[in-house]
Amino acid sequence: DQGLAKTKENVFQKLSRAVAGKSKVDDEVLDNLEEVLITSDVGVDTTLKIIRRIEERVERDKYLGVEELNRILKEEIAALLEENNSGDVDDFELPAGEDPYVIMVVGVNGVGKTTTIGKLAYNFKQAGKKVVLGAADTFRAAAIDQLEVWAKRVDVPIVRQDMGSDPASVAFDTLKSAKASGADVVIIDTAGRLHNKINLMNELSKIKKVMEKIVPGAPNEVLLVLDGSTGQNAFEQAKQFTKATEVTALALTKLDGTAKGGVVIGISDQFKIPVKYIGIGEKMEDLQIFRRGEFVDSLFS
Ligand code: GDP
Repeated sequence: DQGLAKTKENVFQKLSRAVAGKSKVDDEVLDNLEEVLITSDVGVDTTLKIIRRIEERVERDKYLGVEELNRILKEEIAALLEENNSGDVDDFELPAGEDPYVIMVVGVNGVGKTTTIGKLAYNFKQAGKKVVLGAADTFRAAAIDQLEVWAKRVDVPIVRQDMGSDPASVAFDTLKSAKASGADVVIIDTAGRLHNKINLMNELSKIKKVMEKIVPGAPNEVLLVLDGSTGQNAFEQAKQFTKATEVTALALTKLDGTAKGGVVIGISDQFKIPVKYIGIGEKMEDLQIFRRGEFVDSLFS
């Protein structure tokens, strides 16, 4: 179980309630299913896509029973996640040959970015990796301090400068230090000021350029952190960040407190970006590798 107890009960119960007393998958059942998916934050476009795929199956098998609906829906959701390579990572191993592997983390304040970086550091360290953190969100003093708290908690080095210093300069220092100490993985925090999109784009591309100079190919990963409990806001943020930079993976946080895990399905489908990690609590152990099969099971069993 991926700790998504609320999600599990909700989607399953909603669907069961919606189709109670029905035997055939007819238009009314499909309408009910559509509503269940929309209210589970799957998003309109992805919901319609799923409904279309189920309609096609009903076309092929006109006597499809309602008891089959769970199985079919499960298959279609699993297929959507698979198409975007969501849940394809098995563990906190890293591709060999990168020295170091560089993860640039983006996302707006409050979504759980710092916490996710701390949790990632913990997990990589547990997996035997040498981790270095870079505090390139220099816009807020609190962001630097919070990251430092996590660095101490997990016991990994952090490279920081004063608030207001150049984020690219922090990234530069971090990669230099990581290279010098033979680190395996570097995790760089960045500021997520969406209200100033041009600044955001410039800042992220400048950080990338500087990092490339020290570690060719860096960043290996641009991880967008989204609060999985915010539904439409998470979609909107994904839209803005994918416009500002090339996002390669998603971390969905706060799925422990939500009955709306459907956001995972919709966002990976709409933006064609794999979901790699999910946050299911505030502690360092509360980050999981996203596992497609387990996630889909948890929605239905
Ligand atoms: P940032 O501003 O994006 O860096 O956000 P923080 O990492 O400071 O997190 C904001 C709040 O969300 C903090 O109180 C965290 O403890 C909390 N938080 C982060 N991730 C999770 C999660 O997966 N589950 C829960 N329940 N809370 C989380």
